[in-house]
Amino acid sequence: MQFVLSRAICFVHPKSPFLLMATSTSVSSVSSIAIPRKARLRGVVFDMDGTLTVPVIDFPAMYRSVLGEDEYLSVKAKNPTGIDILHQIENWSPEKQRKAYETIADFERQGLDRLQIMPGAAELYNFLESKKMRRGLITRNVKAAVDLFHQRFGMAFSPALSREFRPYKPDPAPLLHICSTWEVQPYEVIMVGDSLKDDVGCGKQAGSFTCLLDETGKYSSDDMASAELKPNFKVSSLTQLQSLLEANFDLIP
Ligand SMILES: [Mg+2]
Repeated sequence: MQFVLSRAICFVHPKSPFLLMATSTSVSSVSSIAIPRKARLRGVVFDMDGTLTVPVIDFPAMYRSVLGEDEYLSVKAKNPTGIDILHQIENWSPEKQRKAYETIADFERQGLDRLQIMPGAAELYNFLESKKMRRGLITRNVKAAVDLFHQRFGMAFSPALSREFRPYKPDPAPLLHICSTWEVQPYEVIMVGDSLKDDVGCGKQAGSFTCLLDETGKYSSDDMASAELKPNFKVSSLTQLQSLLEANFDLIP
């Protein structure tokens, strides 16, 4: 009797369940099931604050200062996955909005003085560079902060879009803009960030792979229960991200 082993090859897509939350690989000896081929990855897009840099901005203090204690508590209760401060002040009067932006800028300036690179970021950057992988950046911080980041740590992310690029995250527009600049498809790119709402939300809406960086385990599986915010991967460090990229993707620019 002759056995014919047919192996169905399928491409892994950001929406595929094969990769969901896989932070390690397992090998199955079952030969009759479809064996997913590694997805091709052509670029990695990073968030900046809390992802490439250590969080130095005291966001709760910033929100309190902008919104006032009462409104802060009420907005926080309505937005358990995170406050979108720029969205909160969008419809304020121009004068009130100007003051709010000044407060935000003050907190950001203090953060810049203490700016530090995330452990593992330099190694990951060198790894991506050795693979000739495209590296982009999307932040809701200002352009001056992005310039300082590039200057201080000697890394090059291009395009690097700051909040002057509208609409900002979680809108998928900045990520789609980067993909079209790179002339790659959104599903050939992974969006990495520490915010479920902004980074994973942006990546998922664009149709890209998503990876949540959760260093402190602040996100529970309940937070990630909704389909719109369920990342493909979750890591607790950038070092772990490098292994994950090597294990799950063909890094072919
Ligand atoms: Mg962040």
